[in-house]
Amino acid sequence: MTETFTGSFTQQDPIPETGIEAALAVLRHGRLHRYNTAPGEVSETALLEQEFAASVGAQYCLAVASGGYAMATALRAVGVKPGDHVLSNAFTLAPVPGAIAAVGAVPVFVGVTESLTIDLDDLEAKLDHARVLLLSHMRGHICDMDRLMAMCDAASVTVIEDCAHTMGAAWNGVPSGRHGAIGCYSCQTYKHVNSGEGGFLVTDDPHLAAKSVMLSGSYMLFERHLAAPPKEAFADLKYDTPNISGRMDNLRAAILRPQVADLAAQCARWNERYYALEAGLRDTPGLKVIDRPAQETIVGSSIQFLLLDWTAAAVQEVIKRCLARGVELKWFGAAEPVAFTSRYDSWRYAPSTPMAASDRILAGVVDMRVPLTFSLDDCALIARIIRGEVSAVYQATA
Ligand SMILES: *Cc1c(COP(=O)(O)O)cnc(C)c1O
Repeated sequence: MTETFTGSFTQQDPIPETGIEAALAVLRHGRLHRYNTAPGEVSETALLEQEFAASVGAQYCLAVASGGYAMATALRAVGVKPGDHVLSNAFTLAPVPGAIAAVGAVPVFVGVTESLTIDLDDLEAKLDHARVLLLSHMRGHICDMDRLMAMCDAASVTVIEDCAHTMGAAWNGVPSGRHGAIGCYSCQTYKHVNSGEGGFLVTDDPHLAAKSVMLSGSYMLFERHLAAPPKEAFADLKYDTPNISGRMDNLRAAILRPQVADLAAQCARWNERYYALEAGLRDTPGLKVIDRPAQETIVGSSIQFLLLDWTAAAVQEVIKRCLARGVELKWFGAAEPVAFTSRYDSWRYAPSTPMAASDRILAGVVDMRVPLTFSLDDCALIARIIRGEVSAVYQATA
């Protein structure tokens, strides 16, 4: 009998009841704008920022409208100007080069390794091309952050971390987003907390924090924040910083606060599912699982494997056969961008030169979401289906 999977790859957990209750309270009093507070009231947004800052051990946190907005704000805060070059990953998703384009800057793409992290040798060779690196921990894979930071510090390259896929993860015990000057996170539905849209930016630098708060559209209400620097930090900024509105609102903050409190438990649930899938895929002929370094604390909200040096036709055959059995895989080798999946050479607004070593890897990257609505039995079944179809196609083409 051929097994099939009938679950959904895009169905997330519901919002926790405490979040629903808190959201209803905000709807009932009607003060949704973060600076619309009753006398003595502290807004849900200010509390959320304080709680998220504490969760990653950051001095300052700003909640904003999206992860993409957090990255563009971070780039502006560190002084990226139109026409500047910004180093970034070739293997990432469209909001990352999009954030660079939003400030009129130009991405310089850095290659990817078989560990699916940024190629640090390629980065080293390109460090003199830019003053800023927008580092994307794509699909949760964290590179050797100790080597990366040593390299960037020595070259005076400022690091901004895109932690859309690493909220709750860590390198050598340091939370992801806390190595560089600024860490950016997303609260979009497919990430680790879900308010539909939303994002965070964290930093220990009072100047970068104050500038980000002003940029986000604080008017002169920055004293209503709980995770922003004191008002002195704004003194020389408030006349010169444009307001580029992208604030978080109290409704979304109310939904997020219980999720931030529960993040560690949710991450543990993701990892149980991830390791069940990984165990089921290991030692499949022709398929390479991505071994995770001991320094990495992962959040397995998605899983990747490599069909390295397979023909495009054979990879597509695997994807087609898995889909016929209910398993939705994404492929980073496709010539055309599909749904959320695209690659550096499909972003035509950002010029790139082909990178043969990275292209070989991207042509083999297969990617799958792991929503928490999957059970461990679902994960074992999905792994059996992938294993069966990969083996069948591999044998047929060998
Ligand atoms: C989702 C995502 C972001 C941020 O996206 P928003 O939709 O703007 O919140 C940033 N980087 C990566 C790699 C992402 O997948």
